[in-house]
Amino acid sequence: MAASLPCVVCGAAQPPAEEAAVASNVRAFAAERFALWRCAGCRSIHARDEVDLDRYYRDYPFARATPSRITRFFHGRLWKRLRAAGVARGARVLDYGCGRGLLVDELRRRGADAHGYDAYDPAFADRAVLADRYDAAIAQDVIEHVADPLALLDELGRLVRPGGRVAIGTPDAAAIDLTAPERWRHTLHQPYHRHLVAHPALVAAATARGWTVVAHHRRPYTNTWVPTLNQPYLLRYLRAVDDTLDVAFEPPRFRWAMLSPAALVDAAFGALRCPPGDGLTVFQTPAPALPATKT
Ligand SMILES: [Zn+2]
Repeated sequence: MAASLPCVVCGAAQPPAEEAAVASNVRAFAAERFALWRCAGCRSIHARDEVDLDRYYRDYPFARATPSRITRFFHGRLWKRLRAAGVARGARVLDYGCGRGLLVDELRRRGADAHGYDAYDPAFADRAVLADRYDAAIAQDVIEHVADPLALLDELGRLVRPGGRVAIGTPDAAAIDLTAPERWRHTLHQPYHRHLVAHPALVAAATARGWTVVAHHRRPYTNTWVPTLNQPYLLRYLRAVDDTLDVAFEPPRFRWAMLSPAALVDAAFGALRCPPGDGLTVFQTPAPALPATKT
C-alpha cells in the first residue's frame, strides 16, 4: 500500500487516491516527467517531488507575454467578471502575481485604480503595495504555483477591506482526469503547478475564513465566442506545433492541420467544447459590523 502523504489543502494524511506522471509543457523541459498524486480527502492534486524552481522559472514562457489586442480583449473580459461581482469601476484593485503587469495596465485603462504585485518581476516586486488595503484582490493563475495555498488565501484576505472581493482564477483539480495525464498536460503545467486545489476544497477553505461565494465562472476568461479565441482551438494549435506552452508566446505559424474540418469547426464553435473546470471564483470577505444603533 502506498505511504500516506500530507495534503496542504485539507490537512488529511492518507495514501493517495491516484498517482500519475506527466511531461512538462514547457519546451526546454519537455523531456522531463513529474510525479503527481491526488488527495483522497479533498481531491486536490499535488506535485510529489521538490524541484529547483528557480531553474524552471529562469526562462518562463509567460515572462515573454506582450500586450496585444487579444490580451487586452481577454483582460477586459476578466474585468467584466469582477465588475459583475460587485467591484466598482474606480475600485482599488490589486493584481496579486501580476507577471509583467498586462492586466494592471488594462484595468487602469478601464478606470480602475489598479496595482500589481509579483515577487518574480522586478517592476512589481516592491512589497510596499502589500501594506495597503484594496477593494478587490485578484490572483489569476497564482494559487496553483505557491507552496502553501491556504497561506495565500490568508494573505489575500488581509489585503482587502472588510466586505471586499477576493477573486481566485485557477484550475479545478476535481475536473482533471489523472488517468489520462498527457491530455491535461497544459492544465497540470509541471513542475510549476505545485498544488491544484479542488474547487469544493477551495470553497471550504474560503468558508472557514468567513468568505462567501459571490460568483463562480466555470470556464476560463480566454474561452470566448470570437472565432479562434477559444480554449479547444488554442490547444489544437499548440498540438499542431509541438504541444508546448511556448507556442502561445511566439509569432503565429501556418499549419495545414488548422485547416482540417475539425479545426475549422473548433475555430467557430470551440467555446462549446471547452470543459468546465478552469474558471474564476469571486469571494466576499466578511463585511464590517454595522454600528450599533442607540436606543
Ligand atoms: Zn486534501
